[in-house]
Amino acid sequence: MVNIKELQGMLDLCSRCGNCQQICPLYAEVKQETAVARGKLHLISLLTEKEILPSPKLQEILDFCLLCGRCADLCQNGVSTNTIIVLGRSIVNQSVQRPKRKLIRYMLRKDRLKTSFKSLYLLHKMRIDKPLQYIGKVQPYWPYYQKITLDLKKDPLSVSLPKITQSTNNNNLKIAYFIGCMNNFISQSVGQSTYKILTKLGFSVVIPEQKCCGMPAWTSGDLELSEELVRFNIQTFNESNADLIVTDCASCGHALKHLPEYFLKQEGKQFQTKVLDISELLFQYLNPDVLRPYSGAVAFHDPCHLRYGQKIKDKPRSVLKFIPDLRLIEFYNPGCCGFAGTFMASHLETSQILGSQRANSIIDSGVNKVITSCPACQLQLDKNLRDHETSIEVLNLVEFINQLMK
Ligand code: SF4
Ligand code: SF4
Repeated sequence: MVNIKELQGMLDLCSRCGNCQQICPLYAEVKQETAVARGKLHLISLLTEKEILPSPKLQEILDFCLLCGRCADLCQNGVSTNTIIVLGRSIVNQSVQRPKRKLIRYMLRKDRLKTSFKSLYLLHKMRIDKPLQYIGKVQPYWPYYQKITLDLKKDPLSVSLPKITQSTNNNNLKIAYFIGCMNNFISQSVGQSTYKILTKLGFSVVIPEQKCCGMPAWTSGDLELSEELVRFNIQTFNESNADLIVTDCASCGHALKHLPEYFLKQEGKQFQTKVLDISELLFQYLNPDVLRPYSGAVAFHDPCHLRYGQKIKDKPRSVLKFIPDLRLIEFYNPGCCGFAGTFMASHLETSQILGSQRANSIIDSGVNKVITSCPACQLQLDKNLRDHETSIEVLNLVEFINQLMK
């Protein structure tokens, strides 16, 4: 864990050049220095030097960030902007109450997600939730809620998938599948597709006991909870003795590839070497001959946590190019969808502006389908495309590949 001196060392790398202004989706909208990394880093510097004190205003400024990683990716000085902003949030949180942090803590501790989703399922089945849509504060979120409850199951996916599936061919690699909360509770067809693909490819598949990847706690500045979750997952996944750990969620992948080293140094670094995004595995092991043709135009929407967090851009595109007859289109503007975890809930208006811009560039590209690899991006793109009354389908890479596998 980083101390104040180390944090100041990280901050000192920033030369205040301001280049990050060019790339920040939020600065493009509000044109305020506090929206961009340079402005936030300056305030965090003052905070570490005790020239300013933690305050609700500072918390608000630090919260207004997608943690998309574009600034870190562009920065020539190698400034770890995301980590610094998270550390800034954690310092401010020690003095200023943060309701979002409390809620995340409440939900992620003691497996409350399981009981919460079960209750939501029952409420929805009994249609008790219907009147909620007429409550003013709930209304703007209702389309998201409808999408979430569309395919809601009583139990998480981890209950219905076998804990161990033996290899069916000579390729005796053992893969541990990290399902992730969104796919476990909401987008179960994504997790089912991944499981089917892994078994069709003949791998041994294990599904160790798992908790949240730690990313929501991390981004809310709750480092203690994030570490607790990361340590739990490292232990259960190490005990599974898997050769590789695979995830189909860009945010989980970003967390599993970075947080272990942050919290556990060498032991964490060792764990991270086994983690792969599903596109990396498919690129290596999927035989194009097993795919049926798809004659349509398709584009890949880069989740920020994949493209900037994990530096993965080409692999999912290469996998899509395996599909006979498919036309792969590139967007003229590779923007953020604006969902960004809990950012959508706390900054709905800005999130909608970014989501709508994204929907427009998808529509202009003339594609039939958009493929992505983040359940939150999928939710946001789907909602915004429906707002624009198009029938363009949004699928996770694994859903699309599984549909086309013979
Ligand atoms: S974070 Fe990087 S790009 Fe932004 S002002 Fe500092 S040095 Fe420049
Ligand atoms: S992480 Fe993204 S939203 Fe936050 S300051 Fe950097 S570019 Fe802007």
